[in-house]
Amino acid sequence: MQNLKKQDPILFKLIRKELERENANLELIASENFAPSSVLEAQGSCLTNKYAEGYPGRRWYGGCEYIDEVENLAIQRAKKIFGAEHINVQPHSGSTANMAVYLSVLEFGDTVLALDLACGGHLTHGHVHNFSGRFYNIVTYGVDRRTEMLDYDAIEEIAKCCRPKMIVAGACAYPRIIDFKKFRQIADKVGAYLFVDMAHICGLVIAGAHPTPVPYAEFVTTTTHKTLRGPRSGIILCKKEFSDKIDKTVFPGIQGGPLMHIIAAKAVAFKLAMSQKFKADQFQTVKNALALAASLASYGFRIVSGGTDTHLLLVDLTNRRLTGRDASEILDKAKITVNKNLIPFDRLSPSVTSGIRLGTPAVTSRGMKEREMKKIAQALDILLRLGVSNNEIISVRDLVSAVTKQFPLYPELLKCKK
Ligand code: PLP
Repeated sequence: MQNLKKQDPILFKLIRKELERENANLELIASENFAPSSVLEAQGSCLTNKYAEGYPGRRWYGGCEYIDEVENLAIQRAKKIFGAEHINVQPHSGSTANMAVYLSVLEFGDTVLALDLACGGHLTHGHVHNFSGRFYNIVTYGVDRRTEMLDYDAIEEIAKCCRPKMIVAGACAYPRIIDFKKFRQIADKVGAYLFVDMAHICGLVIAGAHPTPVPYAEFVTTTTHKTLRGPRSGIILCKKEFSDKIDKTVFPGIQGGPLMHIIAAKAVAFKLAMSQKFKADQFQTVKNALALAASLASYGFRIVSGGTDTHLLLVDLTNRRLTGRDASEILDKAKITVNKNLIPFDRLSPSVTSGIRLGTPAVTSRGMKEREMKKIAQALDILLRLGVSNNEIISVRDLVSAVTKQFPLYPELLKCKK
């Protein structure tokens, strides 16, 4: 980034500081990860210059011969790793991908059945201030009060009652395996489309560490920057019969020119996702989440639903007499990054919360394993107590520093002159 350094030293410094922060902190936000350098390089390439409205072979601009090859490569690779009938790689983000799915087959006011946000659903699954909550009649299902897991019989009852045109499965804070076959059966019983938003578990699905929704759902969307470890973006997978509707809704429906540098970076991520290393890392991500949950439980933390099957876990802090907001602020001081999160049936507001969400994709990408998860649990046990002292925070910061130094992030970038 020597040109950036010369031409915009202020911005260069800020990027450098963020790089140092990412390297020095323990990143436990479940939706974050570290994109490989090859993905960053594709994102920073000359493809950012090119307008390419349309699709390969059907563009509104000249000079798209290489751009077409890039997009086709991304599509072919995605088809291979997901086994999908049709792929659209143009959505700018997960939210845009979700918007395109709704707009492709629903009319405004149609009923959509989706997971309650308080039980782990995403904003685009019906939040009142989101387009989804404003355009559609959202009915929600939750988790069982006792098990804190999805209760498919209860979901079926709600579906039979509200007769939705679409059922949405998928979540951003649900730690258990989702049974997509059962969702398909429910959707068939009420004549609804099944739309799966697998943003969080995408990498696990590719590796086979979580069952795939692709054979069961008419529509599947995912972000590409979470467990998949690609650029910040989204894609849509659908059955062949909906390919035209989806493509037309993405462009010209809700987007203009595709971000070709990001599509190129997605192609890189898809290639890397075919490797044995990626597969092993995804299984390790789950093993790490299991180890973290077990260690935390041994310190007396209550893990929502009693554990995890995936890359994330929810920790209820009620017995520690801390809120999620307090916890994330304390952890920040020791360079441990998490997010506050509602737990099912939370009595506190979304800006305070009774819990935190922890995820292992980013620490696993750095090479950490079960041994480090035990250290992280120990650090959380020290910090997440009412009245934790400054000395304790400093001692954990030293521990974090020792662990992160062992697993350097982007060493080639850090070596560059400041
Ligand atoms: N869907 C789920 C399940 C998510 O967790 C997220 C983001 O956190 C999104 C959609 C939206 O993705 P984006 O932030 O790219 O719009």
